Amino acid sequence: MSPLFNKYNSVVRNTHGWNVELSCTQCAQSGQPRYEGWSPDLSVNVSGHPTIYAKLACPKCGRRLTEEAGRKLVELFKDVAIPEQNRKIIKAFIAGLIIVPFMFATLLFVGVQFGWWGYSAFAILALSAALIQPLVMRMNYRIGRLRSRCACGQPDYIFMGLLGRTYCYRCSSCGRLLRLRD
Ligand SMILES: [Zn+2]
Ligand SMILES: [Zn+2]
Repeated sequence: MSPLFNKYNSVVRNTHGWNVELSCTQCAQSGQPRYEGWSPDLSVNVSGHPTIYAKLACPKCGRRLTEEAGRKLVELFKDVAIPEQNRKIIKAFIAGLIIVPFMFATLLFVGVQFGWWGYSAFAILALSAALIQPLVMRMNYRIGRLRSRCACGQPDYIFMGLLGRTYCYRCSSCGRLLRLRD
């Protein structure tokens, strides 16, 4: 793998985990739950549309704390605003999505005028499609970079789950909450 690809991955990759206290509804134990890795398909029956990936258990009675975690995620993040930089990155991405096909449509039009249509139409369409993927990667990279900064100077963002379509992070160093979307 190329260093560029590794760098991309390290910026974009989420660090799964859970770093806030929960109360067990079975035995009333309160504290840091036991983290047992994560799973892509834990479902939560809690209003507010949280999605929890962390496999959490009560350290005392062993109860699975997915619903407790879902409620906690909603409580913590429901009023956290998406940063302005995140909104700008999405706007730039959408502008790119509009501009790239427009550029190629213009090229295609010029191509037709000069009679290159037969040769170049396929190449132009393929190029247009191939440019979408780098646009998506660029957006993901720029959003990922937002997690490399924190006011505390020691950014260590743990991915706690989704709230609707937004990604919820908490800095382990200082407790700052960060909500991002792509
Ligand atoms: Zn318990
Ligand atoms: Zn921090």
